Amino acid sequence: MKLSFVPQTLYFKHPFKIAHGTRTSTPVVIVQLEHDGVTGYGEACMPPYLGEDHETVMTFLKKVQPFLEAQKDPFDPEYILQTIDAAAPNNTAAKASIDIALHDLTGKLKNRPCWQLLGADKNKTPYTTYTLGMDEPEVIRQKIVEGNEFKILKVKLNGVDDRAAINTIRNFTDKPIAVDVNQGWKTKEQALEMTEWLAGKNILFVEQAMAKNNYDDARWLFERSPLPLYADESIQRYTDIELVKDCFHGINIKLMKCTGMLEAYKMIVRARELNLKVLIGCMSETSCAVSAAAQLTPFADHADLDGPLLIKNNLFEGITFNDGKIVLKDLPGIGVKLITDF
Ligand code: MG
Repeated sequence: MKLSFVPQTLYFKHPFKIAHGTRTSTPVVIVQLEHDGVTGYGEACMPPYLGEDHETVMTFLKKVQPFLEAQKDPFDPEYILQTIDAAAPNNTAAKASIDIALHDLTGKLKNRPCWQLLGADKNKTPYTTYTLGMDEPEVIRQKIVEGNEFKILKVKLNGVDDRAAINTIRNFTDKPIAVDVNQGWKTKEQALEMTEWLAGKNILFVEQAMAKNNYDDARWLFERSPLPLYADESIQRYTDIELVKDCFHGINIKLMKCTGMLEAYKMIVRARELNLKVLIGCMSETSCAVSAAAQLTPFADHADLDGPLLIKNNLFEGITFNDGKIVLKDLPGIGVKLITDF
């Protein structure tokens, strides 16, 4: 196999307001893995909290390049991806980019879509949520109009202006809302008070209510909350499921956190054994990584895969939505097409 990669920057349509300022762009690295004249595409995307950037991803990819290029057979993903995983700790986004490219490549070489190779029913895809940030009422209204076709909204709260944000949205729409607190509630009492306030407002679930390592308070809240609670930052990889299994109702699986499709699939299987609900999420990614994640969504309860809709310069064509329901294509691999020259 031959590996190549190129750093890129994605620009947001609406800047994201976060605790430490405003984010207008995000780094990604696009990966190409070639075998027998066929190219598989992959993507690493690096939100600041995972500790990766262009440099760390490129360094990791250069490190594993000789191993990958020595592989004559791409059809042993367990062996290839376990070796990649063992090459360095962390670097989960960089590892995910290889995993995605390898799945895309082998799917194309077999001329079958990944969802089919996974045994999924493509009609069973969930509706994706459509993200709203904390903003001025007029901006929120405008975003609700832009996302008119989507059936479920996702609202990022910050732990401070939460009631005002929900009330503002409820002035414009009564669509179901998935709430993402991003660790914003500081005490278990505040978290319980807020989940009780949100209950009855057509809220589907609450994601990452409190600090990611605070499993004791998460369990306390789990025993009392009137709404389902999902772990996002509290769970990164397969082995973390043991940490969250009795303090959340569900988990948010993202390829960039868990090193890619192979591990994500194993996490889904384990979550099912433990009666945990599954949400498939994404970072601010192009249609490449999001189409890869979408292959797994027939196995999930919910999906949060609107990443490509939030950026101005999507580099790929991939999954589409039908009234917000994920549409998986019959194209081989992850079903994407590069629509730019680097
Ligand atoms: Mg989240």
